[in-house]
Amino acid sequence: MTDNQQQTPQITGDETPATPGRPGTVAYAALAVGVLTVVVFLAANGAPAAGLLSVGTALAGGVLGVIAWRRVDTGADGTRGLPVAITAVALCVGWLLLFALLGRLQYRAFENVCLARQREIGVALDQFRQDHDRYPRDWQELADAGAQGASVTRFTCAARHWLNPRPAQHPYGLNAALLGTSPRLKDPSAVLLTADANGPLLRTVADIARTRHGAWYVAGFVDGHVELRSRRDPVVLGR
Ligand SMILES: [Zn+2]
Repeated sequence: MTDNQQQTPQITGDETPATPGRPGTVAYAALAVGVLTVVVFLAANGAPAAGLLSVGTALAGGVLGVIAWRRVDTGADGTRGLPVAITAVALCVGWLLLFALLGRLQYRAFENVCLARQREIGVALDQFRQDHDRYPRDWQELADAGAQGASVTRFTCAARHWLNPRPAQHPYGLNAALLGTSPRLKDPSAVLLTADANGPLLRTVADIARTRHGAWYVAGFVDGHVELRSRRDPVVLGR
């Protein structure tokens, strides 16, 4: 045996941990927090508040996991904590990625609900116009006419940030230039009838809630079609 072999022993993975009795304490704590993250969310049956809480615990677990990983690397917790630390980090990061995906899917769901509602409202407004030979003067008149889709919740957009637990009821605006009239339009497919709005009426472009669905908003047009629109798309309100 040479002097060189005596000075550099082979690492086999069976060595006594550098801190005997406490291998990977931080790693196990990280794993526990990671498991808690999943348990919290599943126990609350996917409630938004539980989602917010589980994102917090996932971040905490991920940070603990990275700290544990570094402690293992520097020999502070021996070698046995490494798989636990890696598992904890993977679990927490995976959970956060899954949540980002769920958030994206929920955004799409809100967009689709909003498109369907404004399509329904467009049908109701068209029916009113046929019955009265003009558009209603406000939402109340449409509701009073017993129109299809007249319930209060259907006159509002439910879009909210996916981590906000409170249900949302944002207003839709009616194009103020058309109310109480039965206009003959050159291009009915270009003129807004309804849109995600900051109030019940669309008097100017500024009344449109142009970022309600992320960078997008939903609008219904006089010809009955509905669109997901970019904030930069041209807006026609006048006759
Ligand atoms: Zn909307």
